[in-house]
Amino acid sequence: MERRTKRTLPRNPKPKEWTAAEYSKQYVASYKPFNFVDGEGVRCSLYVSGCNFACPGCYNLAAQNFRYGKPYTQELEDQIIADLSQSYVQGLTLLGGEPFLNTQVCLQLCHRIRAEFGHTKDIWSWTGYKWDELMQETDDKLELLGLLDILVDGRFLEAEKDLTLQFRGSGNQRIIDVPESLRTGEVVIWKNLVK
Ligand code: SF4
Repeated sequence: MERRTKRTLPRNPKPKEWTAAEYSKQYVASYKPFNFVDGEGVRCSLYVSGCNFACPGCYNLAAQNFRYGKPYTQELEDQIIADLSQSYVQGLTLLGGEPFLNTQVCLQLCHRIRAEFGHTKDIWSWTGYKWDELMQETDDKLELLGLLDILVDGRFLEAEKDLTLQFRGSGNQRIIDVPESLRTGEVVIWKNLVK
């Protein structure tokens, strides 16, 4: 008889194995305007729905489901843009779920932010992918990466859990300066990192 063992590590996709085209239902789990916890400064955070990494200890288990929450709408996008236009808001944060498996939503929103605000607002995103994995990924994922300022990369690993870290839950995760990393071809850590 087959014995079921409890998973202790996240899943590891092969390059291009998981695509937004296949998985995303373009749902959002939550939108939180004007918060102080999802990156630097005052931020508006969009939590997209659906993630395949299945990290044990995931902070947002419900949002692993691609149909959790409600569909992304033009109305929500207009609200996000209006909220971001407040002078005290530093930028947008994308979380999940997995933003890179919801690129339809994230690309539309990020392109609009760049069109309306240029680089006067910054864009942060969390992902379960590691930087090196993203470098081997599909064009839509690379396009999204190219619109970001900061990427917090890597799965959540319970064995490396550390609640004292800035903006991340386990020591393997990194806060990456995306434009500098793309320019130099190697991972450049965010210059304001304290811990
Ligand atoms: S990558 Fe993030 S959202 Fe996905 S399972 Fe891991 S902790 Fe949860």
